[in-house]
Amino acid sequence: MNFLTGSLASAALTVALALPAAAQEVPAEVTLFKNVNIFDGTSEEIVQGQDVLVVRNLIRQIGADIPTTGTYDLDVSTGRLERTQALPGSGVSGYTVTVIEGGATTETRQVGVKVIDGGGRTLMPGLIDAHYHLMLAASQGDNWRLEQPDYTHATMVVEASNLLQRGFTSIRDTAGPGFGIKKAVDEGMIPGPRMYLSGTLISQTSGHADRTLPFEEPRIFSGTVPVGEGVMKLDRVVNGRDEMLAAVRQNLKQGASQIKIAIGGGVYSFYDPLDVTEFTDDEIKAAVDAASDWGTYVTAHVYTPKGVLRGIRNGLKTIEHGQLMDEETAREMAERGVYLITQPFEVEENLRAIATDVQWNKYVQVVDGWQKTAELVKQYKVKMGFGTDLVFAPDTNGQQADFLARFAPWFSNIEMLRMITSTNAEILALSGPRNPYQEGPLGVIAEGAYADIILVDGNPMEDVSILGNNGANISLVMKDGMIFKNTLE
Ligand SMILES: [Zn+2]
Repeated sequence: MNFLTGSLASAALTVALALPAAAQEVPAEVTLFKNVNIFDGTSEEIVQGQDVLVVRNLIRQIGADIPTTGTYDLDVSTGRLERTQALPGSGVSGYTVTVIEGGATTETRQVGVKVIDGGGRTLMPGLIDAHYHLMLAASQGDNWRLEQPDYTHATMVVEASNLLQRGFTSIRDTAGPGFGIKKAVDEGMIPGPRMYLSGTLISQTSGHADRTLPFEEPRIFSGTVPVGEGVMKLDRVVNGRDEMLAAVRQNLKQGASQIKIAIGGGVYSFYDPLDVTEFTDDEIKAAVDAASDWGTYVTAHVYTPKGVLRGIRNGLKTIEHGQLMDEETAREMAERGVYLITQPFEVEENLRAIATDVQWNKYVQVVDGWQKTAELVKQYKVKMGFGTDLVFAPDTNGQQADFLARFAPWFSNIEMLRMITSTNAEILALSGPRNPYQEGPLGVIAEGAYADIILVDGNPMEDVSILGNNGANISLVMKDGMIFKNTLE
């Protein structure tokens, strides 16, 4: 190593190891990725031949030729970390840090360096799915209604781990339980992605989440609490401003990072044709009031122009689906800066088997609609995230990232890669103070960002489909600085 790179590396390592400035901030081990090509989540250029240093859970240094050995003096009083020499080729990676206080050496720390040779693979941000349902993705058909709740929760724990193995380090869960599982994941008890939970999907009587039987009465007319609402905490049926406020506030109490309501007909639901509009202006406004008082936002399930327009004119920040939208809707979404998360559904025969004829006919309409929606998004420059909405067929969840390439007729590779990384991270950040993960940005490879990182065999800028196939080309997955998958060893 020449003098120049040595001194540059030294300066950067000062930031890496010594901020905030205290001896106890020197970790026992850091991770250094060597020889990777970086897609940083936003730039069109992949930067070749880089190294990335991860200290604790954050990316601390990116550059060429970061040293794997060296000795440093850390002055506790000033926080200054100075590189004194390169360790002569011992062959063992590690930093020796001498802690100095008041001019005297107080102790010497050994900092291990776990060196990962990327072998020229692409290092990029962990994938993000902005529309996922941990519970419904893990459920075979409607089995969640029939099984013991703890069995369903067990399937969710397995699916949380599978998400990481496929390279998804964050999900935005747009209806369903999971607050306890999120806590266990965040505590490191079980493997899983970062989870941005909406809690129950809030819907009206006869709306998208009304799962009562035809002859059953709603609660207000002496009906009982349906299983999806009471036991499984998947959804909640409300009518009127007061009930809406209570439902939103209950989700916020659980720790929801955003609120999801249904404001138009649904494919899977029994009583609402696709063309209907659900919740009045006043009810939607009530949800937005309660969420924005908590510093966060409301999103909605909706397909039609009328429903989308009613939603965004009452303050929704994002729209889920939108496959039946028109030009006016796309234009107004773009003007208001509203994000769309639409799904490129294709006719899936495995869904045919579990759908009624009515459900199937609605599904086909949505399948027909998304390509026009993609065209309008492109034409009017609507901000678009990526969310799969995989449900009811756990065996097919490995296709999660395969959905991305379906947008290829309308979007370039870089546009699609941004959707699944940095744009989705923008959507997650809409939660503001309710964002559970605030130490650094997500969806980017940058100094100070969360160390949510995947190593990909090949160049996704040339072919985004290599991110799919159940993570077959993803050699390594790191979330929050910890490695959950590594096929390189
Ligand atoms: Zn959904």
